[in-house]
Amino acid sequence: MQIADNTVVILDYTVTNPEGDLIDSSSETGEPLTYLHGNGDIVPGLEQALTGRRVGDNFQITVPPEDGYGERYDELVQVVSRDQFVGIDNMEIGMQFQTEADGEVHVVTVTGLEGDEVIVDANHPLAGETLVFDVTVLEVRPATAEEIKHGHVHGAGGHHH
Ligand code: ZN
Repeated sequence: MQIADNTVVILDYTVTNPEGDLIDSSSETGEPLTYLHGNGDIVPGLEQALTGRRVGDNFQITVPPEDGYGERYDELVQVVSRDQFVGIDNMEIGMQFQTEADGEVHVVTVTGLEGDEVIVDANHPLAGETLVFDVTVLEVRPATAEEIKHGHVHGAGGHHH
């Protein structure tokens, strides 16, 4: 069957930047990626390219930032006082924290430490990056009614509840 909205897809993938440096790979995590197609779980450029593919298809696609993790915005980089991080006494560059703003959870990454100030970046770490995907489709099956209702995959590679 072909990949379409409300199918569960399992794939092997490798992501590099245009220079060929490895960013992420399913062989590195040891597990193929399982997702519900048409649900916005993966970057839009890749989801679009997967529509209509079948088991065994292998392809490469270059996804620009606007179809990937978005552009980088300088205004998402903020300087905050260290005393806002209650209970964290070993602050290090690269640490990530969840913050809530406008009812949405954002992940911020510490990118700098200057005295009592902490520089945090709320951009996705891959924002502004052009991503080159190499993808092999391993499995395609229809999602169950329950999976569609929940908006996520159940069982292997998905939710267990
Ligand atoms: Zn569920």
